[in-house]
Amino acid sequence: MRVNPLRIMKLKSGPESAGPVVYWMSRDQRIDDNWALIHAQDLALAGGRSLRIVFCLAKDSSQAGPRQYDFLLKGLAQCSRKARSKNIPLDLIQGEPREILPQYLEKIKASFLVMDFDPLKINKSRQSGVLDLTNISTHLVDAHNIVPCWAASDKQEYAARTIRPKIHKKLDEFLEPFPGLDAHPQEIQAALFDPGQVIRDLNLKHGPPPVDRPAGPDEALRALDGFISGKLPAYGEQRNDPNKDALSGLSAYLHFGQICSQTAALKIQKHRNISPESTDSFLEELIVRKELSDNYCHYNKNYDNFEGLPEWGKKTLIRHLKDQRPYLYSLDEFEQGRTHDPLWNAAQAEMVATGRMHGYMRMYWAKKMLEWTADPCQAIEMAICLNDKYELDGRDPNGYTGILWSVGGLHDRPWKERQVFGTIRYMSFGGCKRKFDVHAYIKKWTDTGR
Ligand SMILES: Cc1cc2nc3c(=O)[nH]c(=O)nc-3n(C[C@H](O)[C@H](O)[C@H](O)COP(=O)(O)OP(=O)(O)OC[C@H]3O[C@@H](n4cnc5c(N)ncnc54)[C@H](O)[C@@H]3O)c2cc1C
Repeated sequence: MRVNPLRIMKLKSGPESAGPVVYWMSRDQRIDDNWALIHAQDLALAGGRSLRIVFCLAKDSSQAGPRQYDFLLKGLAQCSRKARSKNIPLDLIQGEPREILPQYLEKIKASFLVMDFDPLKINKSRQSGVLDLTNISTHLVDAHNIVPCWAASDKQEYAARTIRPKIHKKLDEFLEPFPGLDAHPQEIQAALFDPGQVIRDLNLKHGPPPVDRPAGPDEALRALDGFISGKLPAYGEQRNDPNKDALSGLSAYLHFGQICSQTAALKIQKHRNISPESTDSFLEELIVRKELSDNYCHYNKNYDNFEGLPEWGKKTLIRHLKDQRPYLYSLDEFEQGRTHDPLWNAAQAEMVATGRMHGYMRMYWAKKMLEWTADPCQAIEMAICLNDKYELDGRDPNGYTGILWSVGGLHDRPWKERQVFGTIRYMSFGGCKRKFDVHAYIKKWTDTGR
């Protein structure tokens, strides 16, 4: 067996049978470097069984629309071609998992189910819904985090400084090279699908249009290579300047699991000599910050609302509930970028046009929503709504955590007391002006938005 047993949770033990092993791909949409698929293949090879991948395409009940489905399906089409070359069919089935997956498993007489770990409520409930209706053996694999979420910590961590040593201690064990996926011995006929046709069949009526961004595992690797050869040296110094193209741009690929952070970390580490400082600050974001988000969402079911904030954050915001807000905007005004602040409007325009707002502007954007809404509950709700609707990487633990960090001090500490914010860390137009050329940013995105 090629997968560290600590990466695997044995959820159910069912009757032995010779039927195929099924990997239910959901969060980790790639064929290479995928611990869940490797584990499914190990189980299949050990029992001389065939192996299938299934993906359930559900119309998401959150904000995903044509933009996100287009990216997902193009990536999945690549996976399906690659899987076929390894004698592993990828079946795309459409509907809510609990309504279609148990029948699918029964029809093909599956012997084993392997699922991706996902800390979000919607996906946990989909998985438990399927488990309630099947009796086959089921394993859950964390193929997304380098240190499996449950192995990093068994509780909600307070901040980056508390999870960092726990993760670093286990990196030697888990940050290991991936074994290649074998061509599976049993050949099975596999149909390919046309992502454009699937999108048309889905008939999604609402949501922003697709963006012009190449999708899929091959493109993700190209983006990683481009980052290493071009931008890595500047990352450490320029990553907080939204006018500079210094970030990796990997978040959408990571969100859809078209690449995993372990692949990126292993590759970047090999190029540490290019810039040790930049490499370390990138790995801090990619590993510690990202895995802290999974930790938070896994252990706190209120990750998407006011109740999920730390006690000090809730208290200070409640104390300042009655403070007069300098401006009050509706969701519609925010969405259309019609605030009094051209910098905020420019950030909104960047996200609407490209499906990606610069990381530094995301903090400013969410903090201003706290300042310009009637209360923090509304600020959180509106920020999540717009983030999940327009960002390609939306509906991600990083998004919920980033929004609660901005609005309510999650994983942060108290700062100087002021109106509306209380002791939540503040950001201002003036502060941004001192850090980067705000007028260049405004001009760029105001012109694009027109
Ligand atoms: C209000 C707000 C909303 C956000 N919404 C999302 C979201 O919907 N989806 C999302 O993936 N990220 C979100 N983030 C986190 C972060 O801003 C993005 O991950 C980052 O900007 C993505 O660009 P990149 O891949 O070029 O980043 P890089 O700087 O190149 O970082 C590489 C990777 O490290 C991880 N990372 C970087 N910054 C953070 C962070 N602060 N917290 C956790 N992980 C991080 C991401 O996986 C990222 O792809 C949000 C942050 C805030 C403050």
